Amino acid sequence: MDILWILWTIPAVIAVEETLMDSTTATAELGWTVYPVSGTSDNSWEEVSGYDENMNTIRTYQVCNVFDSNQNNWVRTKYIRRRGAQRIHVEMKFSVRDCSSIPNVPGSCKETFNLYYYESDSDTANRNSPPWMENPWIKVDTIAADESFSQVDLGGRVMKINTEVRSFGPVSKNGFYLAFQDYGGCMSLIAVRVFYRKCPRIITNGALFQETLSGAESTSLVAARGVCIPNAEEVDVPIKLYCNGDGEWMVPIGRCMCKAGNEAVENGTVCRACPSGFFKSTQGDQLCLQCPINSRTTSEGAINCVCRNGYYRTDSDPLQMPCTTVPSAPQAVISSVNETSVMLEWMSPRDSGGREDVVYNIICKSCGGGRGGCTRCGDNVQFVPRQLGLTESRVYISDLLAHTQYTFEVQAVNGVSDQSPYSPQYASVNITTNQAAPSTVSIMHQVSRSVDSITLSWSQPDQPNGVILDYELQYYEKDLSEHNASTIRSQTNTVVIRGLKPGSIYVFQVRARTVAGFGRYSGKLYFQTMTEEEYNTSIQEKLPLIIGSAAAGLVFLIALVVIIIVCNRRGFDRHDSEYTDKLQHYTSGHMTPGMKIYIDPFTYEDPNEAVREFAKEIDISCVKIEQVIGAGEFGEVCSGNLKLPGKREMFVAIKTLKSGYTEKQRRDFLSEASIMGQFDHPNVIHLEGVVTKSSPVMIITEFMENGSLDTFLRQNDGQFTVIQLVGMLRGIASGMKYLADMNYVHRDLAARNILVNSNLVCKVSDFGLSRFLEDDTSDPTYTSALGGKIPIRWTAPEAIQYRKFTSASDVWSYGIVMWEVMSYGERPYWDMTNQDVINAIEQDYRLPPPMDCPSALHQLMLDCWQKDRNNRPKFSQIVNNLDKMIRNPNTLKAMTPLSSGVHLPLLDRSIPDFSTFSSVDEWLDAIKMGQYKDNFANSDFSTFDVVSQMTMEDILRVGVTLAGHQKKILNSIQMMRAQMNQIQSVEV
Ligand code: AMP
Repeated sequence: MDILWILWTIPAVIAVEETLMDSTTATAELGWTVYPVSGTSDNSWEEVSGYDENMNTIRTYQVCNVFDSNQNNWVRTKYIRRRGAQRIHVEMKFSVRDCSSIPNVPGSCKETFNLYYYESDSDTANRNSPPWMENPWIKVDTIAADESFSQVDLGGRVMKINTEVRSFGPVSKNGFYLAFQDYGGCMSLIAVRVFYRKCPRIITNGALFQETLSGAESTSLVAARGVCIPNAEEVDVPIKLYCNGDGEWMVPIGRCMCKAGNEAVENGTVCRACPSGFFKSTQGDQLCLQCPINSRTTSEGAINCVCRNGYYRTDSDPLQMPCTTVPSAPQAVISSVNETSVMLEWMSPRDSGGREDVVYNIICKSCGGGRGGCTRCGDNVQFVPRQLGLTESRVYISDLLAHTQYTFEVQAVNGVSDQSPYSPQYASVNITTNQAAPSTVSIMHQVSRSVDSITLSWSQPDQPNGVILDYELQYYEKDLSEHNASTIRSQTNTVVIRGLKPGSIYVFQVRARTVAGFGRYSGKLYFQTMTEEEYNTSIQEKLPLIIGSAAAGLVFLIALVVIIIVCNRRGFDRHDSEYTDKLQHYTSGHMTPGMKIYIDPFTYEDPNEAVREFAKEIDISCVKIEQVIGAGEFGEVCSGNLKLPGKREMFVAIKTLKSGYTEKQRRDFLSEASIMGQFDHPNVIHLEGVVTKSSPVMIITEFMENGSLDTFLRQNDGQFTVIQLVGMLRGIASGMKYLADMNYVHRDLAARNILVNSNLVCKVSDFGLSRFLEDDTSDPTYTSALGGKIPIRWTAPEAIQYRKFTSASDVWSYGIVMWEVMSYGERPYWDMTNQDVINAIEQDYRLPPPMDCPSALHQLMLDCWQKDRNNRPKFSQIVNNLDKMIRNPNTLKAMTPLSSGVHLPLLDRSIPDFSTFSSVDEWLDAIKMGQYKDNFANSDFSTFDVVSQMTMEDILRVGVTLAGHQKKILNSIQMMRAQMNQIQSVEV
């Protein structure tokens, strides 16, 4: 209701009056009808010419029969057309003589007259009709004068003119007549104007309302709909005004407002586009605003101002805020270096870009690292309070490398920096850190012990702060004072401490040394030497192992026994000798000091200790076994799910240890986990953990959807591109490089021991050691050799002959894996016997390129199969080589030229020499393809000459459809061609 009242008022607009009849504009006689007719009675209304107040001539009607009683004088206007009006207004100007001013006037003298109207669709009235009486005439009112005239001056009567307005309605016929009835007065009807009222065309509240006729009653309201003016939009609907009976607009409802980019001018009747340089961002009554600093408009009617080049606004900046720019560089950076940390402080930029949100980023580069350039610092550098988004102008940077030159760039950025195409402005400062001693060694553990010695190994300090020159180990008997401590220096992170007392506990601490001096000692660790009894028991337990691992067989064994006896007699170093070949891992010369190396779990006094150190114990409740997917050496291999607390559920492979195992089997089974748990590489199978506290004991690893590589390739024979195959080989080489860098020798690298996941990523697996040790001949792949079982076809000659297993012998095996991959899982050396293989290799025969194998790959295989292991490539070189091939696939286009006789030693001796056969049939029998004798004969491939020319299509056409047979025949034909060439070259 309140709102209605507020809105009630609208700007005063004068109602429009539309005249239907005006007696003053008549140029001739009005000629209205008078009753009684003049002359029949005394004087009725009489038309008289006169003057109005402006002395214009006008036609008036007068009557003055005050002395006669029973007057009833009517004068009727002419027919007046209604013209749509519903309510009619009559304005009468008249003068009335004051009865009291007339001497001797009778009591019947009147000072009033009556106004009547009569509706009619046409002008049908005549002298007698309508009859001169109320009903049919309708009385509007009795009109009385406000003033009557009574004075007479010299010039005659002074006119006192009354003006009265009366209205009536509703009228509905086409027109009407008015009548004025005098009943005994003396008066003059000077002017009569008949009109109706309209509400005018108006623009108000942003909307245009058309002219509207007022209603029939004085109280009626006629609703009118408004339409928004151009460039205005409705705010409230409907947009309405009401036209009242007096032609006045009232009760405004709803409104329109100028759109964004337009402002209301000319009293709100026009919405005008903002002129250039001004903007208005929203709809409303407000005016356009001038563009803020550093912004401009591109046209009139702008809803915002765009920033000038080099100036920007953030999403949250208000549009009326000036556009801003990037800050200038921070000023006056100063640094104070303290050993390997530095405090940087600076002053804010001279120009903040017009903003208050300037923050700072620190870019750290270490320079002069040998090659002259600068490189970004690694993640280990610490920034306090932080590196990016610093609000204060200082930062403390620590954990830098000692003695290193750094450049720090202090960038100033603000809210609009990321919009600028240029990198932030910065001030830089160069510093050189001082010398700093290495940080503490945090992990140390016992590798082995004897009655008088302990072998310890530790990891490199997290912050070496330079090249570690050596380590210093301090030790003393637990029961004695620290003052009695002895020290040993070691250039590697392993040391054998000898000359200790049996069964005694010693305290050990180690520290690293760089040119900057010693770091702090590590925390104290306690290790105990063996007692004599412990030693005797252990030597009995381990004897078979020693025998098993003796590389040179009996001679070595005798030598070992001799050594043991000698050592026993001398009473020192008795136990360590059994580990000497294993300890090569720690002492081998090329090792980078402090680098992570593989630790053989069998060097642990208690292998369970190794499991605890390297494999995470998983609670059985986290494991859900789903199905059996294979058979492992110790029990079933299953797939299942692992849900560790706080981690996502994952699909895993679960190797189980079958029940009824011996303690040794358990140890051997878990040794694989202790080995695997030390590795972390995308191409080495990842250990999730072990379950040892419940039964069955389990090893849980990541799940490899495509299983082992050999089976996978056989199932997908010919399905991959060369690049895909090379990609797989690259992965395997990368995993092997990692293992070699860790000083781990696999000894059983073969496609069967590579697992493939759903993305074709190959991972090295199978780290079990036991099969080399156990004398179990059930698997023919592993031939019992002196001191263990060996997979002959995959193993380098020196490893077969004298158990020299090294990363170089793994490279040989890798060459065989390459061959397996390129031949889609063909068995290396086909069905040759192991002895034949050993002999062939000894005579320098090597596997030929598999079908469609690029010569570059075969060449790499041949390099891996170099007799002298020092000539074989390292895994790092293999990875690089394969990367080059992947980058330049053209190098994989060339196939090995088979006819060349020069590299004959590399060819396959398992295929018999064709020249020893008298016919193609005999030859087919010899290569075990006798079933195709008829096929060859029927297609006229009956001489060696034509057979040697056969292509793959010919072999297909002859009717050999099995892929294996096609390969076998094609290889034999290639051999035949090579042998033919050899014969020719010999003849030449
Ligand atoms: P192993 O005892 O390691 O030779 O495993 C026996 C078989 O189990 C393998 O040949 C695979 O088929 C399968 N297997 C082993 N580990 C996994 C794994 N992580 N993901 C999928 N299958 C596996």
